[in-house]
Order: sequence, then C-alpha cells, then structure tokens
Amino acid sequence: MNSSPTKTAAFHTLGCKLNFAETSTIARQLTGAGYEKVSFDEPANVYIINTCSVTENADRECKLHVKRAMKANPNGLVVILGCYAQLKPEEISAIEGVDMVLGAKEKFNILSYLEDLEKTENHGIIHSCEIDEADFFIGSYSIGDRTRAFLKVQDGCDYKCTYCTIPLARGISRSDTIDSVVKNAGEIAARGIKEIVLTGVNIGDYGKGEFGNKKHEHTFLDLITELDKVEGIERIRISSIEPNLLKDESIELVANSKSFVPHFHIPLQSGSDDLLKKMKRRYLSGLYQNRVAKIREVMPDACIGVDVIVGFPGETEEKFLETYTFLNELPISYLHVFTYSERENTEAAVMDGAVPVQERKRRNKMLRILSEKKKMAFYATQLGKKLPVLWEHENRNGIMFGFTENYVRVQKPFDEDSINKIEILELTAVQNDGTVSVKPLFEEFLAKA
Ligand code: SF4
Repeated sequence: MNSSPTKTAAFHTLGCKLNFAETSTIARQLTGAGYEKVSFDEPANVYIINTCSVTENADRECKLHVKRAMKANPNGLVVILGCYAQLKPEEISAIEGVDMVLGAKEKFNILSYLEDLEKTENHGIIHSCEIDEADFFIGSYSIGDRTRAFLKVQDGCDYKCTYCTIPLARGISRSDTIDSVVKNAGEIAARGIKEIVLTGVNIGDYGKGEFGNKKHEHTFLDLITELDKVEGIERIRISSIEPNLLKDESIELVANSKSFVPHFHIPLQSGSDDLLKKMKRRYLSGLYQNRVAKIREVMPDACIGVDVIVGFPGETEEKFLETYTFLNELPISYLHVFTYSERENTEAAVMDGAVPVQERKRRNKMLRILSEKKKMAFYATQLGKKLPVLWEHENRNGIMFGFTENYVRVQKPFDEDSINKIEILELTAVQNDGTVSVKPLFEEFLAKA
C-alpha cells in the first residue's frame, strides 16, 4: 500500500442507474474507512471502475478508463467491478494496469480485499464467483447529484430474454425489504435531495427474494404504496418497468399519488409480435398498446418513454416497418434506441437472419428521428401549462436546467438560489436546443416586483 498520509480513492461508473447507486454506496464504504474521494483525473491510491456489459463497447470503455487512471497515477491500484467484471474476469485481469477484479458477490467487500493489495506487473488478482452465489441483496443509493438520488430496490432478473446478458452478470431476481427501502428513502430525503429514482434490473418483479427466499412476500404495488406514505419526499420517479409487470393498480396509484411523478419508461424492444416471441419477451404488442392507453386514460399529460432494439436477428425490412408504424401511431413521448449487438452466451447470438451492421445503423437513425419528433410533439402539448420544475445545479453558459414532473426538460437564466428548488412556472416555448423556456407565474412576478 502506498504510504501517502491520507489514502485517496477515485471512482468512475459506466452503465445504468443501478451501477451509479452501487458505486456511491461503495464510495461511502471507503470514505467511512478513512479514504478521501478525489476526481478520476487526479493522482489517487486506488481507482475503482464500475463496469457495464450491455453494449459491445463495454470492454473498450473499460480499457479507456484504466489508461486514464494509469496516466493520473502509474502507481495507483486499479480495481474493476460490475457486470463486465462478473462476465469476463480473465479478460479484464489481463488489461495492463489492472490489479484486481471483483465479481458481483465480492464488490461490497472491497475494503477487505484492498488491505493487502499491491501494484502488480502481472495479471490482476481475480476475486469472482459463480453468479449463483450472488443471491443476496445489498441495498444502495446514490447521493452524488444534489438534486436526485438513485435508490436500488431490486437486483438480478429471472427472465430469459434471448439478447440479454444481465441475468448472467447480476444473478437471480431479489429485492430489498420494504422497511429497508423506506429507511433509505427517508435518509435520502433527510439529506435535502428532492427526487428519488427507484432503480433495479427488473423492478416490476419487486418482492421476489425479499427475505432471501424465492417467494413473493410483497409486490411492486405494495412497495410504492408504502413509499407514497413517507413524509418529506418531494418526488419519486420509477426508472423503468416491464409492460407485463405494470399493473392497473400501480398506474392508478401514480395518478393519485402525492409524490410519484407521471413518468413511465417501459421497454418495448420491438413492435413485431414475431420478434417479441424470438426475444422471449413476456408480452405482445397488444398488451403494450393497452398499458399506454391505460396511462393516457388516467394521466393524459404523463411522459411515456420507450426502449426499442433495432437489428435483432430476423428483423426484415417489413418487420422493422411494423415496429416503426407501431411506434409512430402510439401516443408516447420519446424513445431510447439500441442497436442490437451479439452478446456471448446469449441465444440470439446464434440465431439466423443477422441484419447487416450498416442496416442496423440506418434503422437506428430512423428511430432517433422519430423519437425527436415524438418528444417535440409531447413538449408542444405542455406549452402554456403551469408546472413544478426541480432545478439542477449545473450552470452552462449562464443557463440552468431542470425537469418537470412529467419529464419536460426546461431552462432559464442561471440563478444560484434556484438550485435544488421546486418552482411552479409557465412553460412558454421550445428552444433550439430542444429544451423549453419558462416564465414565472404572474402572481409570483407581482409578488417579486
Ligand atoms: S427483463 Fe430481459 S432484458 Fe431485462 S434484464 Fe431481464 S433478461 Fe435482460
């Protein structure tokens, strides 16, 4: 171990909200043990990179940040954890500069593994297990951003979508107890953070494995019902939920809730029922349409975001146009478009009907254009409305940004006093950068005059 007086640690997170929540929790473990947190480009005793495995770039990105760490301090210890580390420990341990790789089971015991760790010229040490052993739940939440916190309520997944490696990287579906989630939410609110984003891998499956067994003691509806009772939380946002697990009762709870915001992000993946079957998704397009209709019925101004994959094996031009038409006709607000990439150990990787890469890119572009069209149309329906905006701390060339509850991105001239404040403002016009300008309510304007 380096003899520098105060041990320093730097963190970099790749991937999803769940990874950010876990990195933040691990960082609190290290600062709790006397480490000082420094930024990733500064010299540090330890560099911790939390990796993702969803895209084919995962390995390239990991290597890039190992290089960054080695540039900042060639003697710094480099520890890799996260989904890519669980899936490819040998591959990562061979990356020059890596000293240790921790799997899904080991990552939260990082302090004990750091004790005797030394810089090595050889391959990094691997502490990783079979994913089946990572069958317990460790709670986490992020506090890096002053405005919102990612609160982990569920981990792992029991689904078998044919393109996905997440169950291989994160293990079986398991959940935090409701009491612990409520306690964490209370802690976050007590830090003055205004928005909590519920996160996990398949949070609609909440309740499974809550007490270490495979039974469903509670449901997602039970969880959000209890969270809605917690005092002091301004906003709760559901990060993403499978359509087949989004029940009418949950939609109605959000519609009548004091803290849950009217924003749903629901993975679709394809508008073609044939492809949904090949993907082993647990619904067909009809159910998806029905979920969207239910939300629009009880929350006409809700924001509805959609995940969609282009270029899945067997996606003929005709099936792609089926997806395009389905999305074009659906009253949704934006798309997250993913280009299919073959992932090792997945069923889809050996399926016939591979789509040429250039064609995948062309389809991705078409759906991104559609997404922009949908977003602008949704934003236009909100102009003239008086909505609560939660302002963030960034000052970008004298402009600050925030989100309404229904996820409209707004902007105004930077005002230090507005950071992390919720203001009711009138949405006025869509700006060139795609955000919406606002003006104070007449009453407030008079009050300030
Ligand atoms: S629901 Fe499907 S896509 Fe999502 S994590 Fe589970 S297996 Fe992967």
